[in-house]
Amino acid sequence: MDRQQEFVLRTIEERDVRFVRMWFTDVVGTLKSVALAPAEVETVFEEGLGFDGSSIEGLSRVHESDMLLQPDPSTFQLLPWRGETEPTSRMFCDILTPDGEPSSADSRGVLKRILSKAGDMGFTCYTAPEVEFYLLKSAELNAEGSPVPVDREGYFDHVYGGVVQDFRRRAVTMLEAVGISVEFSHHEGGPGQNEIDLRHADALQTADNIMTFRSVIKEVAFSQGIYATFMPKPFTEFPGSGMHTHFSLFEGDTNAFFEAGAEYQLSRTARHFIAGILKHAPEFTSVTNQFVNSYKRLWGGGEAPSYLSWGHNNRSALVRVPLYKPNKMQSARIEYRGIDSAANPYLAYAVLLAAGLKGIENEYELPEAEAEDVASMSATERRSLGHDPLPSSLHDAIRLTEDSEFMAETLGEQVFNQFLRNKQDDWTAYRMEVTPYELKYNLGLL
Ligand code: GLN
Ligand code: MG
Ligand code: MG
Ligand code: MG
Repeated sequence: MDRQQEFVLRTIEERDVRFVRMWFTDVVGTLKSVALAPAEVETVFEEGLGFDGSSIEGLSRVHESDMLLQPDPSTFQLLPWRGETEPTSRMFCDILTPDGEPSSADSRGVLKRILSKAGDMGFTCYTAPEVEFYLLKSAELNAEGSPVPVDREGYFDHVYGGVVQDFRRRAVTMLEAVGISVEFSHHEGGPGQNEIDLRHADALQTADNIMTFRSVIKEVAFSQGIYATFMPKPFTEFPGSGMHTHFSLFEGDTNAFFEAGAEYQLSRTARHFIAGILKHAPEFTSVTNQFVNSYKRLWGGGEAPSYLSWGHNNRSALVRVPLYKPNKMQSARIEYRGIDSAANPYLAYAVLLAAGLKGIENEYELPEAEAEDVASMSATERRSLGHDPLPSSLHDAIRLTEDSEFMAETLGEQVFNQFLRNKQDDWTAYRMEVTPYELKYNLGLL
């Protein structure tokens, strides 16, 4: 029993905790939860908790369905939303095989493997996500087949009174109560669309935080009788929900992305990192943008990036170098704008970091920064500048991933296969569906 495990057992006792939820995710990033009686926690720390993984998407094949959950005591957290008198708590779990080895089907395990590679190269990875989402009146559609947003406001609008103001206050308070620091929150461009930006943390903690964040947002919305969705593009005519993420690498206390006096104060390490991301983005987009609907966002305008490019303060760029503060070493970072709010955060951060690290290892050259709006260039102009498109559909994205050695190596054989199988099923189901657009178009109703 180590000190963190002892601390958990003591807290459970002192706070009279009724349930300890064991949290993990499937290959798509859906949160899974098993509630444990407090008396079981000590044994589970020692032996893990056996469960049947065969019904969890992407976790195991039927003939090897026995798996173990090993709770990570450093993630122990009381959850405030289930009543003060009988507190509930949670721990994130690693998934192990019956002989106690890390399971190669665990997305959290994939991120841990990439982070330990970064560690071998001398780096700690920090990430800060800006999460966008829509608040809807309910999960139902109106007579025209559209979801109904809770308000009609837009970018940075102050909403007077009402449900949204209440929502953001309660959500931010609850996030702080579960140990997630919020830097900003504001109304986003679409009606009912909001954004909450989390403070940077190491990449594994950020991915865990995003899972918690989604639960908190859903719970708070539910308690107010509204519905929160992280769907990438719920409306044809309004912007999608991105999850821009800021990345930086530290060597001890030194920000490895910073170099005083260099262009945009970006070190060679940062330039190689960006080059790695740009090179592998088409191959990993199936992971950062994993649904049929994700491509409606990428190709639907609304400031979502559609082409490979990087720039300083250029909002059409896929990778943006934010406005830098002179000689502020700690804040040097890059922002990846492609990823959407429905991604599995463990896999998405794993592929982004792996691509950046590959760029550093192989010293990939970074092309010129782009100052112009890439979306409004002609196709020929884009081609001559090397701004290739991101995949235009889930189908294209899957094919690029299937052919990618980088992706097979980064995800590991099992996640790679299970993820692609899941995405292929998604695409096949969609391909059969007759959509409202086709009916309107072909019946001459547009
Ligand atoms: N909603 C936009 C996206 O899909 C981002 C808008 C913004 O934050 N400037 O990425
Ligand atoms: Mg923002
Ligand atoms: Mg935004
Ligand atoms: Mg941003």
